[in-house]
Amino acid sequence: MDSAEYERKIAFRFAAFDQDGNGYIDRADFSAAAARLLTEFGTTARCDKGQALYTGAEALWQGMAGIADVDGDQRVTRAEFVGGAVKRLRDNPERFAEIARPFLRAALAVADRDNEGAASVPAVERALRVLGATPETAAFAAQSLDADHEGKVAEDAVVAAFADYFTVIAPDA
Ligand code: CA
Ligand code: CA
Repeated sequence: MDSAEYERKIAFRFAAFDQDGNGYIDRADFSAAAARLLTEFGTTARCDKGQALYTGAEALWQGMAGIADVDGDQRVTRAEFVGGAVKRLRDNPERFAEIARPFLRAALAVADRDNEGAASVPAVERALRVLGATPETAAFAAQSLDADHEGKVAEDAVVAAFADYFTVIAPDA
């Protein structure tokens, strides 16, 4: 991977977290992501699924801040993201996966509107689009997450893919 491609990949990952596009990652980005998911799937913030999603989003923000907010101003800048998050996530992808798991579990539950015990591939595709993925990326990712082609997406597949996406971006990869 050349340095231009590396920079491009970093920019995509940063943008994925910077949901409101104001140039830094903070708590508002995580609550915005939760709110978008609840709106998309017609779920209220007050029900159990909504509460779990906000709790998971807050835990993910706290984990991200603990890893990357070097100066402690409650904002993760692009420089902090590149210098702190990317390096540490790469060194310890399992830890990041566990930080993200409650949010991802809650998001899958929100996407599972019929309470079938797992979110469908089309529902996961919708969730990815509402979080900013392009239609092509969302479709491809949702299909990839359904490894056994049964039309459902399992929590462990999402957690593993999430960790991979944010950690397999080393310049020497
Ligand atoms: Ca932001
Ligand atoms: Ca900071």
